[in-house]
Amino acid sequence: MTFSAQDLVVRYGGSTRPALNGVSMTAPEGDLYAVLGPNGSGKSTLMRALLGLVVPERGSARVGPRDSRSWDRRALAREVGAVPQTETFAFPLTVRELVAMGRYPHLGPLRAEGREDRDAVAAAMERCDVGQLAERSVHTLSGGELQRVRIARALAQAPRALILDEPTASLDVRHEMTILGLMRGLAERGTTVLFITHHLNLAARYSGRMLLLDEGRVAAEGTPEQVLRAEVLETVYRWPVVVEADPTTGSPRVTPLDPA
Ligand code: ADP
Repeated sequence: MTFSAQDLVVRYGGSTRPALNGVSMTAPEGDLYAVLGPNGSGKSTLMRALLGLVVPERGSARVGPRDSRSWDRRALAREVGAVPQTETFAFPLTVRELVAMGRYPHLGPLRAEGREDRDAVAAAMERCDVGQLAERSVHTLSGGELQRVRIARALAQAPRALILDEPTASLDVRHEMTILGLMRGLAERGTTVLFITHHLNLAARYSGRMLLLDEGRVAAEGTPEQVLRAEVLETVYRWPVVVEADPTTGSPRVTPLDPA
């Protein structure tokens, strides 16, 4: 299941400048696809457009072959898991209850929760290493634990594509690497994983392709080597950088310099 946009323009009510201004991109099937760009460059708006949550002024956002807004919402929820940047929980749900919510799109008036659903919840908790937290209230979790639980909920959905907004922000190294490893494993097994991040070097190392946004426009799209070029990054981030091959990983490594 691909994510794609074609000449996508999105403008919020009252804004003169569009939040997205002619964006074309494709996150191929089974890729780990990073969306990069400065604050306010349109990353979250692209995520909303791909999920069919905003109405484009022009162009299209697609999930697979179909326009995101023409999907039946329940069908889309079976195909695409979404992990927004933050969410608050009004009720003291347990971890297991929250992860089980990922199964809702598969249930219905004629289909109550069954063995398949319980197995999917257990498998998702296992993969995100949150089984030991199953009976804990989500209110008592640390930031890293809660993030793993929210990803487990998306996996319980058994989606063919996943979209995550800064999934590793505020996580320590171990939890960050665990989540990136998990995302890479999903991509290797055929799930399309699109994620927004500010971590250029980790994105360079883990993603197959990446998109760099700048004030709602595509500054670069392609492999990490094609996108992470010093002259492009300096223009977009308005900061001097050096890009070299990381001797340990071989991926491009971006080092911001001291101001001139
Ligand atoms: P990013 O995720 O890259 O930080 P966003 O997609 O959140 O960027 O925002 C892109 C632009 O759209 C910014 O100029 C932001 O101020 C504006 N914007 C975002 N959400 C809204 C909204 N709900 N109403 C009006 N403007 C918005």
